[in-house]
Amino acid sequence: MIRFDDILEKVSPLYGEKDLVPLQKAYVFAAHSHKGQVRLSGEPYLNHPLEVANILADMKLDPTTLVAALLHDVLEDTDMTALDIKKLFGEEIAHLVEGVTKIGLVEESHPETRRAETIRKIIIAMTDDLRVIFIKLADRIHNLKTLKYLSDKKQKQIAQETLEIYAPIANRLGMGRTKAELEDLSFRYVDQKNYFQILSLIKTKKKDSEKILKKIEKQMIELMKENHIPAEISSRIKRPYSIYRKMKRQNVSFDQVYDFMALRLITNTARNCYGALGIIHQNWTHLPSGFNDFISMPKPNLYQALHTTILTKKKQTIEIQIRTHEMHEISVNGIAAHWKYKETDAKSMVKEDKRLQWLREMVDLYQEQKDPRKFLKSLKTNLIPEEVYVFTPKGKVITLPMGATALDFAFKIHTEIGLHTDGAIINGKQMPLNSILEPGTIVEITSSDKKTPSRNWLNFAFTSKAQHHIKRWLNKQEQLKNISLGKKLWNKQLTKHKMKNTSLKGKALLNKIREVTHPHIRSLKHFYEMVGIGKIVLNRKLLEKILPESALKPKKETLLKKAVKKVTKKPESAIKVKGTEGSQVKLARCCSPILGESIIGYITSGKGITVHSLRCHLVKKEILPSQRMVEVSWDKSAKGDYEAALSIKAEDKPGVLAKVTSSIAKMKANIRKANVNPDSESKTRITLNIIVHDIEQLERIAEEIKGIAEVLSVARI
Ligand code: MN
Repeated sequence: MIRFDDILEKVSPLYGEKDLVPLQKAYVFAAHSHKGQVRLSGEPYLNHPLEVANILADMKLDPTTLVAALLHDVLEDTDMTALDIKKLFGEEIAHLVEGVTKIGLVEESHPETRRAETIRKIIIAMTDDLRVIFIKLADRIHNLKTLKYLSDKKQKQIAQETLEIYAPIANRLGMGRTKAELEDLSFRYVDQKNYFQILSLIKTKKKDSEKILKKIEKQMIELMKENHIPAEISSRIKRPYSIYRKMKRQNVSFDQVYDFMALRLITNTARNCYGALGIIHQNWTHLPSGFNDFISMPKPNLYQALHTTILTKKKQTIEIQIRTHEMHEISVNGIAAHWKYKETDAKSMVKEDKRLQWLREMVDLYQEQKDPRKFLKSLKTNLIPEEVYVFTPKGKVITLPMGATALDFAFKIHTEIGLHTDGAIINGKQMPLNSILEPGTIVEITSSDKKTPSRNWLNFAFTSKAQHHIKRWLNKQEQLKNISLGKKLWNKQLTKHKMKNTSLKGKALLNKIREVTHPHIRSLKHFYEMVGIGKIVLNRKLLEKILPESALKPKKETLLKKAVKKVTKKPESAIKVKGTEGSQVKLARCCSPILGESIIGYITSGKGITVHSLRCHLVKKEILPSQRMVEVSWDKSAKGDYEAALSIKAEDKPGVLAKVTSSIAKMKANIRKANVNPDSESKTRITLNIIVHDIEQLERIAEEIKGIAEVLSVARI
């Protein structure tokens, strides 16, 4: 168990006497606040903030970070408030602690959404002060170390979240050691089988590998001495997770894994790095594919080193990293290395550092993203390491995530170019915009003012930057269209009801509209937009409320007319969907939702609401504009007939169709259409359109069909 004195001892050579006072105060305060609390491991709670502060002390972070680390769980787990901390420790510390605290005010009942919202808040807090994420990462490391005391489900969830979000963030910030620790600690919980298999594999190779490494290390030291290159050389067996990742990337099995061994050579200057590389290549065979010059072409997180892979006489591979002391320090602690001398101001750091380009971009892009789950989804894509290096015709390097297309390339160069992309020339050949980029290719984008985004682009824009700008452009167009439609409707309705607006103009009109319709209407444009979308329905009654004195005598609607109106309602309105009172409702033909299944509504200009199933590909791919989305739910009493299509794959044996149809009859459903097509030599595909009352009935039918021996699979289409 760590003691506070150990931390003090560690930091006192770094800090001045004055800085140790708040640290001691924070320790006393934390000890007092967490008094009597015990962690699931049985240790006193105080041990956790101490461990977290200790990890940060190892990164040589500034006193403010350490004080906040000691206090980081006080808000969440004790009666202390942010105000208490502010009074005792000042604004800056209180701000940091609040940023780290999983702000308990999140009013989300669903655990997934709550987690997503927490992460969203932390990311936003870190743009204010990056030290929030340093504390959060250290917190995560210690929590992972004590993960075994939690339930299996929790373990997996936390470890998974670490691999998907926290480790990639550490990577983006260039914090190599933190990233490695997070990955290895999580790996064992996410994929136990592979973790232990790799561990035992390492064990069997360890002795041999260490012997080989020592030998090469000795030879290398001699060679560097002869050539007057100062060098510190160290060797190691690779980490379980990095072996695992390589296995997955190269798609190899356990007995094909060769590269366990790695050497690191640290020298004084970049020039000597290249010198050392030359000597190594002269004395050992190297794999051309294993060579990377990250000195002249640093990674986006500013990592610099030369990488090469040599072959021993026995054909074993050894990966070698060559770098200077400075480069090494940056590879270990990355951006955190800048805090130790207290020379940077937190805010300007976030604004200026190159490594934070992705963060600034992302937070800008998602400023308006209110749905935390969507934020999280785009965060995950944004955190995929940029791994494909491609070139502009002028030779500039552009880094993109694996899977990015020519269209993403265009957006990466410039948003305006992206929005007007006309074509792509890849390695001198005209190629479609959806072409996935291979490493090393030269890409030229042609653009034209006349060309603008289409919804289809969303199907192959891979990066969230491209996705976001395309959506934003499409939404803007949509908005302009709605405003002009709304204006037209306003004038048309006035004419229709023989009204004239002479009294109210500008602000006065807006105020009246707000009063009558909705206080949140921001401007007349906004009002027209709502009318255009169909969220506000203009009728005589509403117009008269807005413009009372301009109203002519209302023509009385006869009772008969009213009665006729009721009867001639569209047949679709028999489908009752809550939350859409007064609007026409239509079930989307693309996915034909069935009573009881998860649905979402989209307002179509002038045509009411179209209801899609959540499994609809238009919904899943977010092809439909989100501002037209409305929540809808089924009125369970609205029994009706719904058509569903099932695709059934079965062994091609006589009597299969009869078995299927009779099981449907047994479940009291009708078949509207049936198609049988051979799928391959021995398989057949049956497509059925059946009429059901609700989703439960359909699910029961699908289960029943799955129970037939010859049936291989049943899917809804
Ligand atoms: Mn904590």
